[in-house]
Amino acid sequence: MTKKTPAGKPAAGRKTAGDKPESRTALVRRARRINRELAEIYPYAHPELDFENPFQLVVATVLSAQTTDLRVNQTTPALFAKYPTPEDLAAADPEEVEEILRPTGFFRAKTRSVIGLSKALVEQFDGEVPGRLEDLVKLPGVGRKTAFVVLGNAFGRPGITVDTHFQRLVRRWRWTEETEPDKIEAAVGALFPKSEWTMLSHHVIFHGRRMCHARKPACGVCPIAPLCPAYGEGETDPEKARKLLKYEKGGFPGQRLNPPQSYLDAGGRPAPPLGAG
Ligand code: SF4
Repeated sequence: MTKKTPAGKPAAGRKTAGDKPESRTALVRRARRINRELAEIYPYAHPELDFENPFQLVVATVLSAQTTDLRVNQTTPALFAKYPTPEDLAAADPEEVEEILRPTGFFRAKTRSVIGLSKALVEQFDGEVPGRLEDLVKLPGVGRKTAFVVLGNAFGRPGITVDTHFQRLVRRWRWTEETEPDKIEAAVGALFPKSEWTMLSHHVIFHGRRMCHARKPACGVCPIAPLCPAYGEGETDPEKARKLLKYEKGGFPGQRLNPPQSYLDAGGRPAPPLGAG
């Protein structure tokens, strides 16, 4: 039986007995509608790492592996106060950097990465973060995901960030059957104009972090339920679903200590500094 959404409509994209598979045109239309809806739910969507320049963003993105953006944001103020430039970090004593990075986990490997990355910036790029994908991915600890975050958010070049949330949500929405990040990136990229890629990534990741959680999505309060083939995978009771919401949607602080003004204007609150709660 076709699942019903809160609006009483059959959930989109779900194939049931008698249903026709979704055409390519219908898929493109539905995917773009989901993105438009998400833009209304999260008009303030933004990268959730605090940064003031491309160097800070590339370092913060490397540090964000296996931890939350919140934990990175609570750690980087001390790091950048002590080592504001690639030259400073390239010449740093690894033990002192390890001490600062300890709260982010895997701090020895991350220390090696950020010092190695700073050395490469100094030696190969005059201490500047390069604005080209092929250069960025040559830096130690920088893969395609990190490179696209940097290109999209520090250089204004469109990029799709295929992180764990992005992978889970596009699968739930049946945007692609692919499972490898590079193939997901290509398949989803083909559904949208290039100019929308960066904001699309923010919208999807915001939704994954706030509402469409891995274990229990808050389907009962999800505004895109009528467009979602996975409606019902999570909590459908609106009252219970509301309690699952996170960050500003649940009335809690966000991940950034210095969020953009648009986030504060929408009622979002800054994250507390390290040790403050
Ligand atoms: S919360 Fe539920 S309805 Fe909303 S996108 Fe996720 S799975 Fe679909």
